[in-house]
Amino acid sequence: MSNNTPITVAYGDGIGPEIMEATLNIITAAGARIDIETIEVGEQVYLRGNVQGIEPSAWDSLRRTKVFLKAPITTPQGGGYKSLNVATRKTLGLYANVRPCVSYHPFVKTKHPIMDVVIVRENEEDLYAGIEHRQTQDVYQCLKLITRPGCEKIIRYAFDYAVANGRKKVTAFMKDNIMKMTDGLFHKIFDQIAKEYPQIENEAWIVDIGAAKLADTPEAFDVIVMQNLYGDILSDVAAQIAGSVGLAGSSNIGENFAMFEAIHGSAPRRAGQNLANPSGLFLGSIMMLNHIGQTDIATKAHNAWLRTIEDGIHTYDIFREGTSKQKVGTKEFAQAVIDRLGQKPKELKAVDYKSVPKVEAHREASKVIRQNKDLVGVDVFLDFSTGSAEDLGELLKKVPGSDVTLKFISNRGVKVWPDGNPETYCTDHWRCRFMASKDDVGINNSQVIDLLTRINDAGFDFIKTENLYNFDGEAGYSKSH
Ligand code: NAD
Repeated sequence: MSNNTPITVAYGDGIGPEIMEATLNIITAAGARIDIETIEVGEQVYLRGNVQGIEPSAWDSLRRTKVFLKAPITTPQGGGYKSLNVATRKTLGLYANVRPCVSYHPFVKTKHPIMDVVIVRENEEDLYAGIEHRQTQDVYQCLKLITRPGCEKIIRYAFDYAVANGRKKVTAFMKDNIMKMTDGLFHKIFDQIAKEYPQIENEAWIVDIGAAKLADTPEAFDVIVMQNLYGDILSDVAAQIAGSVGLAGSSNIGENFAMFEAIHGSAPRRAGQNLANPSGLFLGSIMMLNHIGQTDIATKAHNAWLRTIEDGIHTYDIFREGTSKQKVGTKEFAQAVIDRLGQKPKELKAVDYKSVPKVEAHREASKVIRQNKDLVGVDVFLDFSTGSAEDLGELLKKVPGSDVTLKFISNRGVKVWPDGNPETYCTDHWRCRFMASKDDVGINNSQVIDLLTRINDAGFDFIKTENLYNFDGEAGYSKSH
């Protein structure tokens, strides 16, 4: 039996096969001790009628190796194809997506000479749960799910990463001035966990101004932790302003599995022409080598790559007259890195991973302190298009029953009854809030069902309900605007 570490490799679509070949050539020349199992994922698998883009047998390889080096794939447009990336992250529990965005001034053109930001993105939750519904003629919704364990795990991972990598600060981006419950939870847990790491500075920014600051002054940031959507968008921005999306790699880490990739896509227009920059996937493979404990090889290969960049040997995407020295294709770039194995950069900072501890991803979330959960009301959502807010309020008042009372009606979150503003634009999607008539008694699910029956009998089209709970007396629902 060999002492090599088995890894699963997918060559992907578009530029994928070329950049994968280049990457594997470099790391094997550097001495990577790996046994490669190749699987097929992506376009051809989709087009054979597999909506997941991956054959069941490929999961067997992933379960065996637990390490996945993946080139970008093309998701065919339309046709109900599911994103393989989202499926892989969720199936394998890869909750932490780590995306270092570094500028290589003065060798790669950038507006931000001093930039070395690591974005730690939550990978499984948020609006990416894929729970979407069309509810009326006019209204569609997407559910944003944020969980306490999800926040704890990703935020702790960001702080552990900062400690292991000698970073000074962790910043959180969120939008809790608007999403007080979901983003509010993320912020609250960030503040709690930050206290466990007194040696690491911490700060929280509202994502909009934080993003503006990141785009303008990235040197003000170190490690940034974000929920899924903000992290998806802003890591592309960060990689692009550092120099090129073609230069950033990423790791997707879970308790038992890990996947490594470039952050960019399959760039089909560049495919098959020996043009693409393999650096994003290569830097992903460096993260993989560190993950499997081959820090010596990672250090050697990464330093040779830095030296190649420094020597001005550049693919078309980063080639600039005056700054660059030689424009090369994918293969020649890989060969230039191989030629420099054993060398270090002269001006750029050389890396040394041998003393960087691995960041473990299997820390359990803290135990739940169970709170009393009391049902105190229900929001009933109606599809109604035959009258105004006033009309709806008057009609609903006639729905009999004394255990719950109609408190207000809102439309797109704005209260429109009672005492609404006639100027408020209303769609056909109405939220009707019923609260227990007696404050101190609460209601139960049977009473909710009775209310729905009465609403249905009165001829209304109810489309969903959301129960309103108090947790230890504190409202677990948003008030109306
Ligand atoms: P893209 O990242 O493929 O390309 C965006 C731009 O960047 C293009 O101009 C391209 O030429 C350039 N570019 C990207 N990588 C490069 C590289 N290594 N070297 C040189 N130039 C590079 O994004 P897109 O065009 O929006 O998407 C193309 C396909 O990739 C789509 O099918 C999309 O679904 C898929 N995609 C896959 C992944 C993944 O597998 N992880 C991620 C994003 C997009």
